[in-house]
Order: sequence, then C-alpha cells, then structure tokens
Amino acid sequence: MDIFCKIINKEIPAEVVYEDKEILAFRDIHPVAPVHVLIIPKKHIESANELSDGDAQLIGKMVVLAKKIAQDLQISEKGYKLLIRTGKDGGQEVPHLHLHLIGGAELYEEIRPIN
Ligand code: AMP
Repeated sequence: MDIFCKIINKEIPAEVVYEDKEILAFRDIHPVAPVHVLIIPKKHIESANELSDGDAQLIGKMVVLAKKIAQDLQISEKGYKLLIRTGKDGGQEVPHLHLHLIGGAELYEEIRPIN
C-alpha cells in the first residue's frame, strides 16, 4: 500500500486541511514554500496516466478545492502554483495521484525554457 493510502486510512498521521468522502488534502511533510498542500483522491489512482474519462469530475473537484484552500490560506491574491508530477520523467515519487498547491512565496524558477 502506498504512503498516501496509509494517510487516507489514518495508519500514519498527516496535518489534514480538508476531507470529504472523495478527497483528502494535507500539508506536505517537506514544504518547498510557506504553503504546500497535497490534494489527493481517496480512490487509489497511481498517476495521471491511470485517469479515465469517469475521473474527470473528481479531478475537477480537486482543482476547485485547491482554489478554495488557496483562498482559506490567503495566498490566492498573490498567486500560487498547481502541479501534478507524473511518472519517472515527471519526477513523481509517491505512486498515488496528487495535486500540489504551492504558494506564499515567488515561485518563478521551477520550469525553464530548454533553448
Ligand atoms: P511527488 O514528487 O510529486 O511524488 O511528491 C510527493 C510529495 O509527497 C513530496 O513533496 C513529499 O514531500 C510528500 N510526502 C511524502 N511523504 C509524505 C507524508 N508522509 N506526509 C506528507 N507529505 C509527504
């Protein structure tokens, strides 16, 4: 079982900021900015590669929730970054789909042109 499924099952602790029957959001254990929240589906989906058409509403809810959490944590006015890493080249470490909500600092650097 992946580590995020264990957090969903309350087998390991997390600083939860939102929970409903489909979605859990919690603080990243190694934040890269003052606000770093992970938003995950409770249903196990390994990565964006495993999404199906039937997951469109779930993914939409995750993005709308990210906006609401950004508002609650008062970073929406200055802006934030939403990120889904996928697979090896994408740098995904945990094999359970997650949306990073990152903000509270200027975050210009992560993606740069290669030419
Ligand atoms: P990714 O590289 O996109 O797969 O991101 C995985 C993220 O999960 C990293 O930012 C980790 O810091 C975070 N992470 C790993 N284990 C935990 C945990 N137990 N609680 C909270 N965040 C975690």
